[in-house]
Amino acid sequence: MPSNAEKYNVMQSMALGWSQAFEMLHNSGIRCVLAHGWTERTDPEFVELVQEWQDRNGLDPDGFFGPNSWERYKTMRHGLLERSQTILAGGLHVPIYLDGVQVRHDPAMALTKHRADSREKARVIVHWGGWNVGSCHRFLEQGGKSSHFLVGDGEVYQCVDLSRRGIHAKGWNGGSVGVDICRTPRIDLMHRTEGQHIQRNTTGRGPEECLSIPEGVAETARTLLGALAPMLGLVFEYHGHDVMDDRDIKAGGVLGHHNTDAMKWDVAPWAGSIWP
Ligand SMILES: [Zn+2]
Repeated sequence: MPSNAEKYNVMQSMALGWSQAFEMLHNSGIRCVLAHGWTERTDPEFVELVQEWQDRNGLDPDGFFGPNSWERYKTMRHGLLERSQTILAGGLHVPIYLDGVQVRHDPAMALTKHRADSREKARVIVHWGGWNVGSCHRFLEQGGKSSHFLVGDGEVYQCVDLSRRGIHAKGWNGGSVGVDICRTPRIDLMHRTEGQHIQRNTTGRGPEECLSIPEGVAETARTLLGALAPMLGLVFEYHGHDVMDDRDIKAGGVLGHHNTDAMKWDVAPWAGSIWP
């Protein structure tokens, strides 16, 4: 029979959100989230580890990993990490190495606005929107939408905690990470853009001509996706210009919005610049 502390910890791991971060990062072999090799939040060993840790940190060593312990734990971790090279998952700053890219976090990080995602993140869905990170953020906000990451030239802006659900891909928000590339391919908006030229679009998705993706933005997207995919246990490969079967979408990967929605042509013409 599980002890009261064990039962309490299972409940709190969901209420406080550390269950998501724990499982996601544990599954992908990243053990940095919970220190001291905590491997199972439900087992008696975990309760003992919590007690030791609480004792070391001047908390009542009851083995109940609740709000006070969680806040203390997060504060400790935050103090240890360089925030410009972390992403937020389950309320924790998790280190990520993005060479030459600055990572910023939305100060109003939508932990309260977005529901917890009960599904494990099985896919990344790549979109485009806006002319830069700021305009993309406004555009999403005004439309009541949200992506986890906005990609600019040399910068990544995180808007939604990785353990939460964004609102970016109809029918596929659960279990997905949304990434918005902050440039538009639309020629009718050309006067707004920099570093782009007109390219032919032979993908069969969208108009026959569109604007290219600037190399700096493409490189930033490749850097983010290249780091994010292995973290989530996904392979960073292209799935073609067509809409995929539901079964294949469920199987996961790094997809473009055009792969999940017949009405969208998001990133198909830029695929060669974004995917390896
Ligand atoms: Zn889209």
